[in-house]
Amino acid sequence: MSDTRPPSVDSLAGSLTQSGLPHPLLVDAAREAIAAGDPSSALRRAEARARTQLRPVVNATGVLLHTNLGRAPVAHSQLAEAQNLELSLATGKRGSRQATVGPLLAKACQAEAAIVVNNCAAAVLLALAALASGRAVSVSRGELVEIGGGFRVPDVLAQSGAELVEVGTTNRTRLADFSGAAAKHDIAVALQVHQSNYRITGFTEAVSVSQLSTLDAPVVVDIGSGLLDAACPWLDGPPPTWLSGEPAAKQTLQAGAALVIFSGDKLLGGPQAGIIAGKAELVKRCESHPLARALRPGGLVLGSLQQTVLSYLKRDGQAIPFWKMASADPQDIQRRANSIAAKLADGVEVVETKAVPGGGTLPSITIPSFGLRLPGDHLEALRSGEPPIIGRIEDGCTYLDLRSVDPGNDQLVLSALLRLSTDGSQADPAGPTTP
Ligand SMILES: *Cc1c(COP(=O)(O)O)cnc(C)c1O
Repeated sequence: MSDTRPPSVDSLAGSLTQSGLPHPLLVDAAREAIAAGDPSSALRRAEARARTQLRPVVNATGVLLHTNLGRAPVAHSQLAEAQNLELSLATGKRGSRQATVGPLLAKACQAEAAIVVNNCAAAVLLALAALASGRAVSVSRGELVEIGGGFRVPDVLAQSGAELVEVGTTNRTRLADFSGAAAKHDIAVALQVHQSNYRITGFTEAVSVSQLSTLDAPVVVDIGSGLLDAACPWLDGPPPTWLSGEPAAKQTLQAGAALVIFSGDKLLGGPQAGIIAGKAELVKRCESHPLARALRPGGLVLGSLQQTVLSYLKRDGQAIPFWKMASADPQDIQRRANSIAAKLADGVEVVETKAVPGGGTLPSITIPSFGLRLPGDHLEALRSGEPPIIGRIEDGCTYLDLRSVDPGNDQLVLSALLRLSTDGSQADPAGPTTP
């Protein structure tokens, strides 16, 4: 009878070291396997657990800023060294962590000053708390938006301690609506929010930043996506046509905004961060508000963002992974796709695709691209390889769009597709089993 006794948790855990997990997690896997009456499942459980850890993946979805894949890809390495995070090397005295990257960002969008917080939602919260707590903020009814992931303008506004004054209607808001609100309420800020992930079309009217700035209250604009300059001087050619109409920090300030607020990891192409840029006096008020401490970024983020902003100032868009992907010539992408397909068996086709900027920016905008199409649903097989390759499904076919893949990773895509073709058991080539 002794050979039917389950193994001890410890000895089973000790046999799972190939999964690379630390011992306490192996013990969990062993315990679960034994409790399920299936000790032989322990390694599979440990491996599944290991795959919940953060790791690099290949984004072949064609969504350049994929929120589930960390939005903008950024390269950053930092040695285990001390950093002059809050020390002025000029005076030897304590400085501010906002004195390093903020001024670079201000330079890049021609603002008087800028500071960095954890994300754009935090930046909006801080700006409204610092400038409008206990007073009123006017917002067009067409801009009381939800951006996804729970960022709802009325809710953030309430958290800031400011009172929302809704102005105009969903589709049409005029300057007179704002001046009417100013006559009745103590308006501390006129807030404009970029609609980001949706559009109102048809019988519409909106108030421009330059019109708004003729009123008394400072105009704060949440442009969301973080395009620094509509002229895109960091690119070799003219700005891509798909960007047209996207608000940019520099031009929004030039139009009269007192502050612009934007994300670090959308069109800016940097790490997750939120930026407040504009009039020095207002930026200072944000910086000295007690919430600023709670919302401040760490040295890792500032180091990474500094690298991104220096690339902008050097006009080197190719050094920013997002702009490198976004500006790639479709013909070059097609050549890459051809060279992968040439090494694969028939059945994998090179096809024209439509990539999208993603990240809640530029809805209904597509960027011409090329990719590989395979009959059948191979998403899971590709996802379970190392590194995981993330594709998309359309009409029962698997698509790998190469615009969102760094050319340096083409070899990984090829190897994964070769593995697929040698392991026919991984997927049903006739098509997906579920519609
Ligand atoms: C994306 C977005 C946000 C939220 O940005 P996070 O950096 O994700 O916090 C806020 N406002 C607008 C207009 C956005 O587009």
